[in-house]
Amino acid sequence: MRMRGVVREGALDRPGVYRMLSPDGEVVYVGKSKKVRTRLLSYFRCAYPEDKGARILREATSIDWEYTPSEFAALLTELRLIKRLRPRFNVAMKRDARHYAFIKLSRGAAPKLLVVRGAGSEDGGVYYGPFLGAQRIGEAVRELSDALGLRDCSLDQKMYFADQGDLFGAPVRTPGCIRHEVRKCLGPCVGACTVNAYAERVSMARAFLEGADDGPIERLRGDMQSASDRMEFERAASLRDKLHRLEELREQFGRLRFAVETLSFLYTVRGHEGDDRLYLIRRGRVRAEVPAPRTSRDRRSLNELVQSVYSPPERQTASVPTHEIDELLLLSSWFRRNPAELDNTRSAVRS
Ligand code: SF4
Repeated sequence: MRMRGVVREGALDRPGVYRMLSPDGEVVYVGKSKKVRTRLLSYFRCAYPEDKGARILREATSIDWEYTPSEFAALLTELRLIKRLRPRFNVAMKRDARHYAFIKLSRGAAPKLLVVRGAGSEDGGVYYGPFLGAQRIGEAVRELSDALGLRDCSLDQKMYFADQGDLFGAPVRTPGCIRHEVRKCLGPCVGACTVNAYAERVSMARAFLEGADDGPIERLRGDMQSASDRMEFERAASLRDKLHRLEELREQFGRLRFAVETLSFLYTVRGHEGDDRLYLIRRGRVRAEVPAPRTSRDRRSLNELVQSVYSPPERQTASVPTHEIDELLLLSSWFRRNPAELDNTRSAVRS
């Protein structure tokens, strides 16, 4: 096999990333390894035709690779290549991400909260997370939507706001669903609220999810107290359960914000043959990468870089821009799997 010969002749056992290409030049798979040569040769030993490696080799006719200073650098490069090239066979990484759930606030005139698995698509929604335990998060999100009167119907449900002008006359207003009737939704589909009234509730949801506002919890607590004063104990008990779910969600967000904040430091990674690198990580994302400083001049320019990366204020929020989710997941899983690596980190404050 020609590809095997290319690998045998040229590949070294050091960290790097590799690409498998189809005859027309399409990158069908991107991978990384601590030992590129060993990893690539293992593809040619796949025992079963249904093995992933064997399937990739059936599609690929050429292979190329580049070395990276370390395994960590290989992971980052692989992630960036996959995001840029979206190779067909790179489902494994997506599967990793599917362990996690995110709360998504959709776009549009009447946004809704929903729980999605895995890293999001580039559709401009706002994501909060990642969380483990999609089901419990789903229950908490339902309570939050109910408490604030946000819709939870299909994204293509047509909306008709009370103040929505329509040149061709108002559409036939069908009755809202049961959620509007039981006052769990403001009813933006039946003209029961204005655009602003709905937007205000969406802002409250965002503020709650970002840890800036306890309004929904206070509201439920007030309702619970009134129900109990009226001796409606069954209703009070059900409100208490809702309250607990929202409090649990708030705590989870607290822990998440802490985790994101914890992933802020300078990280030195030993590199192949002394090619050490320094990564400037802020809020779970690599903001800059430079060769580890060796001279006082290097250190001076590092100080400037550190200032520019860490000084601009950033809001402490649990929302994660879509394009940052994969990197946040990668970094948290790297330090979880290699806790000793935290010894190679130091605070950016005293660089
Ligand atoms: S009342 Fe209308 S907007 Fe609200 S959840 Fe039901 S269908 Fe959706």
